[in-house]
Amino acid sequence: MSTWLSHKLPTVDPSQVPDVKAITEQLTQEFDIPTDHLKKIVAQFQEEMQKGLDREGATVAMIPSFVTGRPTGDEKGKYLALDLGGTNLRVCQFELLGQGEYKVHQQKYVVSDELKTGEMRHLCDFIADCVDNFVTENGSNNVDSNLQLGFTFSFPVLQTDINRGTLMHWTKGFKCTGAVDKDVVVLLQDAFLRKNLNVHIAAIVNDTVGTLMAHAYKYPETSMGVILGTGTNACYYEKLTGIKKWKGGDTVFEEMVVNMEWGAFDNERRVLPLTIYDNKLDRESINPGEQMFEKMISGMYLGEIARNTILMLVDRLLLFKGDSSHDLNTQWRFETAYMSTIGEDTSADLKDTKHVLEEILQIPSTTKEDRQIVKHICFLVGQRAARLAACGIASVLQHTGESEKKSVVAIDGSVYEFYPDFEQMMTTALKELFGDDIVNRVKFDLARDGSGFGAAMVAMMSHKASQVKQSTSA
Ligand code: ADP
Ligand code: MG
Repeated sequence: MSTWLSHKLPTVDPSQVPDVKAITEQLTQEFDIPTDHLKKIVAQFQEEMQKGLDREGATVAMIPSFVTGRPTGDEKGKYLALDLGGTNLRVCQFELLGQGEYKVHQQKYVVSDELKTGEMRHLCDFIADCVDNFVTENGSNNVDSNLQLGFTFSFPVLQTDINRGTLMHWTKGFKCTGAVDKDVVVLLQDAFLRKNLNVHIAAIVNDTVGTLMAHAYKYPETSMGVILGTGTNACYYEKLTGIKKWKGGDTVFEEMVVNMEWGAFDNERRVLPLTIYDNKLDRESINPGEQMFEKMISGMYLGEIARNTILMLVDRLLLFKGDSSHDLNTQWRFETAYMSTIGEDTSADLKDTKHVLEEILQIPSTTKEDRQIVKHICFLVGQRAARLAACGIASVLQHTGESEKKSVVAIDGSVYEFYPDFEQMMTTALKELFGDDIVNRVKFDLARDGSGFGAAMVAMMSHKASQVKQSTSA
């Protein structure tokens, strides 16, 4: 109840111009995360990480990835990668040339909503058709008798080996039946067999792990992989002795990449500064109460938070004279990419913002004051996302001690790449947490294609490891 009381906004006579200053101040307060609160979030985050490392079933799952080695950069050969879990399904062939260099061929396929929410068997058959089409068109099947494929499956998977893993639950709009608690590699490999497709799934790869591997191929000091795209997640190298729940038996390796699945952080709502706009988004989502951290940070959701905020002001007659439109009233219709367009709009009368609102979203008419308020909302939602993402990174850096050393954080995803000033806003938060000189030690790097190239890398490493095993046991 107190949430509602604290969300009183100034009311205005609809015939008057909205008080831009008062409204923006109110919104700024709602979306602000002061430094003290950042620190509280980091403290809680570290606690949750520890729970995940100690036992199965924690909110932040901290999943061992079975990726133990680090690439040298000199590996060679052709490997396939399959990327599912983002906007498109992608099939790629990478030719590793050594010295951190490679060539790539790739093809994208659209996964319909029907496939995303239908039977898993149909989705697997569709994927097998895409891979079949790709290897036929690229002539890859003539080159190698048995192609090795790295499968980027960017959902929470409980792995039992490098190419074995059961799906824990779906995220990001997928909801196929017959997949949860099943081994997704077996399901897909069976679909390949049904089509006589001679492709071996050598590894199941989370896109965060791929991001780390791909970047480490060129920059060995990379210590963390982060995704800020449709969803958000991260991984890092953990000491094997630090993973108390690990029951993999004796291993010669000292460290293993841990896939955090940090999107679920604070599903308990202990520290995240949730607003009524977030609550509405969550309630209307297909997974209420889940992925609370992700819902405040990633590309799938930021537009919707902004839309909820805009609509709340419309309903109070503080925007567009109380007018809305069919598009603005439609869930998910306000895309996160529009926020980047609006954020970059520096024209005197905010003409790009006008275009988004009036042409794309069909709002009958907007004033300059309206557009200023919308721009401010986009800024606030983006800034809050950047600061929360920085909290996640800070928690890991503090946990591993990397915040005291020189290290590189590899970050992939359109939100990081395209959202105006996203990196700078993350850096500001990191400085508030660690002091200004953190920037001399920790560097954020845009890492492209972890889910493609990274998956091929993990397939290569898995294949090499299995060959070594075979030759030593022979
Ligand atoms: P994926 O996570 O699917 O691999 P991306 O990293 O490209 O792919 O992220 C896609 C997400 O990024 C989508 O949710 C989309 O809303 C968002 N996005 C796309 N373009 C932009 C942009 N220009 N600015 C901010 N977000 C964007
Ligand atoms: Mg991606």
